[in-house]
Amino acid sequence: MSDCIFCKIAAGEIPANKLYESENFIVFLDISPANKGHALIVPKIHVQSLTELPEYVAQEFGELQLKVSKAIMQATKAEGFNLLLNDGKAAGQEVMHAHMHIMPRFSTDDFHFKWTHKKYSDGEMQEYFERIKRNL
Ligand code: AMP
Repeated sequence: MSDCIFCKIAAGEIPANKLYESENFIVFLDISPANKGHALIVPKIHVQSLTELPEYVAQEFGELQLKVSKAIMQATKAEGFNLLLNDGKAAGQEVMHAHMHIMPRFSTDDFHFKWTHKKYSDGEMQEYFERIKRNL
């Protein structure tokens, strides 16, 4: 897509610190990291949502998460890491081209990722269970 920043990076039209590239993916450092070493795994095909990612790249996407996480852990000596995919504006997505964040984490860092835990009313959990299962 012509006005998409990640498409431009994938096409080599704007620079990025590319860690890895294949026919279907590009991995580069996030320019404004949560912690140093924070990287993004980006499919070259322009899809806004993970749900639109073609199945033929799904296996490589999974493998890359493992490969890049291991490399970041080794390189940064992080104590842990988060995989984060913001899908949709409501979920905090700012660049509307699907991407997975891999963020190295330290017990002393200032990253907060907290939510309030909701409660199901009587029978509601079973309802959600059945509705989701039907769609699998
Ligand atoms: P999200 O909120 O999940 O859409 O995250 C978008 C991420 O893209 C942010 O963490 C930005 O720092 C990162 N980002 C935006 N532009 C660039 C760029 N030109 N190079 C590298 N990372 C970028």
